[in-house]
Amino acid sequence: MGVRTWLGSWPVYRQLTGSDPLGLGAAAKSARSKELTARTETADSVARSICPYCAVGCGQRVYVKDGQVTQIEGDPDSPISRGRLCPKGAASKNLVTSELRQQKVRYRRPYGTEWEDLDLATAMDMIADRVIAARDATWEDVDSDGRPLHRTLGFASLGGATLDNEENYLIKKLFTALGALQIENQARI
Ligand code: SF4
Repeated sequence: MGVRTWLGSWPVYRQLTGSDPLGLGAAAKSARSKELTARTETADSVARSICPYCAVGCGQRVYVKDGQVTQIEGDPDSPISRGRLCPKGAASKNLVTSELRQQKVRYRRPYGTEWEDLDLATAMDMIADRVIAARDATWEDVDSDGRPLHRTLGFASLGGATLDNEENYLIKKLFTALGALQIENQARI
């Protein structure tokens, strides 16, 4: 291999001497990367979506191939984020596809040392029983001067950023109807 050919295999040499001084195209390519095709180019369809992680609501393009999500990128048409995603939003494909994603209800009993699987109906019944018991035990009908309170401080709701508008609306209605005062969401900006 001649010296010029050898030097030409170095990206920095091609960047400094060629037509790609910022190293954004040809100068940055290796023989291997020249052969690669982006997942965005081979997708069967692209769905528009919104990142579920926080209240900024950055626009996303969700690339799908063979019925599977293959890539999620920022949507340049979004007036909010103009194609950008923060690291959390850029990694949101894992929210859909990760093998680490829990698909079952997991429960660890008081003083238990192991997690167990519960079926959803059992878990929902357990939650309902505990909400009713906490409400009964902590209900405040009036204050010390007899003024009406109709409230409980025995439980609270803390929502996460992956909840959508409609879910938050229903959670607020449910907890207010139960008499809860402490109803919050992590996704505040
Ligand atoms: S988590 Fe990041 S990408 Fe998602 S909406 Fe918020 S700022 Fe945008």
